[in-house]
Amino acid sequence: MPWTKALCPDGQTKTFDECLACRDRCLDQEVCEALFENERNWQAEEHTGDHISATALLGCLRSTYLERIIDYAQPPQSGWWSLRGKLIHKLVERPDMDNPYLRRSEMRLFARLNGLQLSGQLDNYQLRFLEQGVLKDFKSIGDNGLQYIIHDGAKEDHVWQTNIYAWLARQNGYRVDAIEIAYMSLMQVVNTGTRAVLTEYLMSPPSATGKRKRMIGPPRLVKRYPSGKKKWDCTYQIPPVPIYPDQQVIDFMAPRLMILHAAFSDAIMPLVAENEVRKWKCEGYCAVRAHCEAHEESMGRKLVIPS
Ligand code: SF4
Repeated sequence: MPWTKALCPDGQTKTFDECLACRDRCLDQEVCEALFENERNWQAEEHTGDHISATALLGCLRSTYLERIIDYAQPPQSGWWSLRGKLIHKLVERPDMDNPYLRRSEMRLFARLNGLQLSGQLDNYQLRFLEQGVLKDFKSIGDNGLQYIIHDGAKEDHVWQTNIYAWLARQNGYRVDAIEIAYMSLMQVVNTGTRAVLTEYLMSPPSATGKRKRMIGPPRLVKRYPSGKKKWDCTYQIPPVPIYPDQQVIDFMAPRLMILHAAFSDAIMPLVAENEVRKWKCEGYCAVRAHCEAHEESMGRKLVIPS
């Protein structure tokens, strides 16, 4: 079972209904109602135990598995980013069309790999520009996170996710000539493979070195402040998402698919996530950490979180 209980700031665990009845709220009532409704619908429609989607193959496979088989509690606030993502998707979801160009929105595709079924829902697929297939994915992101996309391009997980979608598309007869990810914060939309402006507040104009190496053209002075700081608009070229060949995508997916299948069909616990994932996820972003730690202890081990 997925998220079924609310974890209060004081450490108490409450049912969703008890949380909604609380008069000393830690998060807006209507937002909580929407969050819980979304979660209840997810439980009813999508929790099928061995349903393996492209996104399930990313990040920590153990947390993917545990989040589906146990009830867990988490603070209401931690569900907000997911609901926010759904809202933004609704805003940009466009109707399908066949003429003059093919466009498919929210297209769910299926394919089999080593006898196992995998699925993925493509946000947007278009056949356009001289029959070139463009696969597009929309991501919501915090305003603070956008600078990393502007400096370095798409997140590694998102590159893999969209390449799995591209593989699924090819398996279903859709050509993919380009992958584009649109990162949407409340203030700005940044697309991979295009240009974007990052505003910086510095005494001197920033130069195109180090993390700013992809800056193009001179920074534009927008405003001077009495403190001496200046506001600069800097234009960056965002790297495009690379398209990996089928075999590279299969090499990435196959072992993960086997691990998840073994977990769902034979209750074989996936190993803890790799170091890079544990570094950011275990502390603060994992709702099933207590269960993970309990498993490690039962095996005579300790969960190690790299610093
Ligand atoms: S605590 Fe870390 S390793 Fe364990 S399930 Fe959560 S993310 Fe994975």
